[in-house]
Amino acid sequence: MGKATGFLEFDRLAPQKEPIESRTTNYQEFVHSYTDKQLNDQAARCMNCGIPFCHSGCPLGNVIPEFNDAVYDGKWEDAYNILTSTNNFPEFTGRICPAPCESACVLGINKSPVAIEEIEKHIIEIAYKKGYVKPNKSYLKTGKKVAVVGSGPAGLASAAQLNKAGHDVVVYERDDKLGGLLRYGIPDFKLDKSVIDRRIQIMKESGIEFRTNAEVGVNTPVSELDQYDAVVLAGGSTIPRDLNIPGRELKGVHYAMEFLKQQNKRVGNSPIDVSQIHAQGKNVLVIGGGDTGSDCVGTSNRHGAKSVTQFELMPQPPQNRTEAMPWPTYPMLLKTTTSHEEGCQRHWSISTKAFLGDESGNLRAALVVDLEWESDAFGRPTKFKEVTGSEREIPCELVTLAMGFLHPQQEGLLQQLRIERDERGNVKATERDYKTNTDKYFVAGDMRRGQSLVVWAISEGRECARKVDEFLMGSTELESKEAVH
Ligand code: FAD
Repeated sequence: MGKATGFLEFDRLAPQKEPIESRTTNYQEFVHSYTDKQLNDQAARCMNCGIPFCHSGCPLGNVIPEFNDAVYDGKWEDAYNILTSTNNFPEFTGRICPAPCESACVLGINKSPVAIEEIEKHIIEIAYKKGYVKPNKSYLKTGKKVAVVGSGPAGLASAAQLNKAGHDVVVYERDDKLGGLLRYGIPDFKLDKSVIDRRIQIMKESGIEFRTNAEVGVNTPVSELDQYDAVVLAGGSTIPRDLNIPGRELKGVHYAMEFLKQQNKRVGNSPIDVSQIHAQGKNVLVIGGGDTGSDCVGTSNRHGAKSVTQFELMPQPPQNRTEAMPWPTYPMLLKTTTSHEEGCQRHWSISTKAFLGDESGNLRAALVVDLEWESDAFGRPTKFKEVTGSEREIPCELVTLAMGFLHPQQEGLLQQLRIERDERGNVKATERDYKTNTDKYFVAGDMRRGQSLVVWAISEGRECARKVDEFLMGSTELESKEAVH
């Protein structure tokens, strides 16, 4: 490895961030880059582990110690080739992945883990600057045609891999712009949309065709898919969980995605064809403590909300390593996002019983109650009861419901194709073959596994592409994450 004693000499360092006062005045990314010396030191922290658990911690099977080594030696093209041997889009994961690889980093047992995600971002950005990222045109064409429905990270990864295998690939997207939740879910301050545009341009130059405003099963008939030799369904898991309590119908209670999508459209100058939801001057209540919730927090602060409060039903995870949260899970659970740093009151173990309105039907408050949790022998929360006498009103004029997603949209595409769903309503197919019950139809990403992570969507898109290639050609030479190790 690059420097055997690096992990003893250097502490983990995060790149500088734009101060809160200035970054919350706009929607731009605000994490700066390492200096050359800082990047070299951070790569040097990677230990020569007997078993690098980070490999398996990463759903893509990224070969992390090897690219850290190349970074330490300043071998940028090698670092880029190693990284992209398993990951089509490190510019996305390098910005927004919760980095399960870091939770699996052995150095994390008694020190801070290696800053793998940041190193990944630097490798790909340097690769773009140095001109290593080129269109991947395949000159040996198979004559087979594949359609991909959905242009989120799963669809894009499938399309990139299938194009590389020599198939003609057409991607259908119902939105006006490409990228799925990367485009219209995740805010620009976490992922600038020029990063998606830059990648799509490379994919177009590689020969992939994209059709936007094309919702298969709605304004694009499913019969159009008959002309293809195989189809990858990558439509995501888009139906949000609702909170059916009294007052749900009040003006000011919205699904988080209604709020976030509008803001992404505003920044991207796309038309907004529904009534505008804005947090300026309002007391905002975000219900749900995950990624979607924290994106609502960051967006509300940028809108100029009067106050931002976030509720989570579950209890607060322990602040220190404990028996209840043994390594390697604890670093991920303790993550406080940059949006929380920008201003937010967080409440854990709290339940919302009703929304209260004024005489015009506008939201004015939420009626809430504290919860007391019981835990099992391992410290895992199992059952809760309401704390007597803790009921109170929290004033709010805007609520965003960010409590997760149930399953993909069933009407249209899935119903018309008679695609079988599992008991949760996701498309039924195993991680072994990604094949649906209908011949030549495959599925990848959130549409199969339920709402998850970008890194899993890319991983599924790649693995699914292997299965499609095998189906079309009898065998495949596309990389498998198992074979890399
Ligand atoms: P999607 O990204 O949902 O893409 C599906 C695409 O299919 C959409 O563009 C949709 O319009 C299109 N589509 C659907 N049906 C049709 C049809 N019939 N015809 C044509 N097109 C169709 N993950 C992280 O790792 N880090 C984060 O920070 C993070 N933040 C998140 C923030 C929010 C607000 C949300 C909602 C999710 C976040 N996630 C995050 C999760 C992550 O975005 C998803 O797991 C990932 O995008 C799933 O990728 P996908 O390709 O399966 O689906």
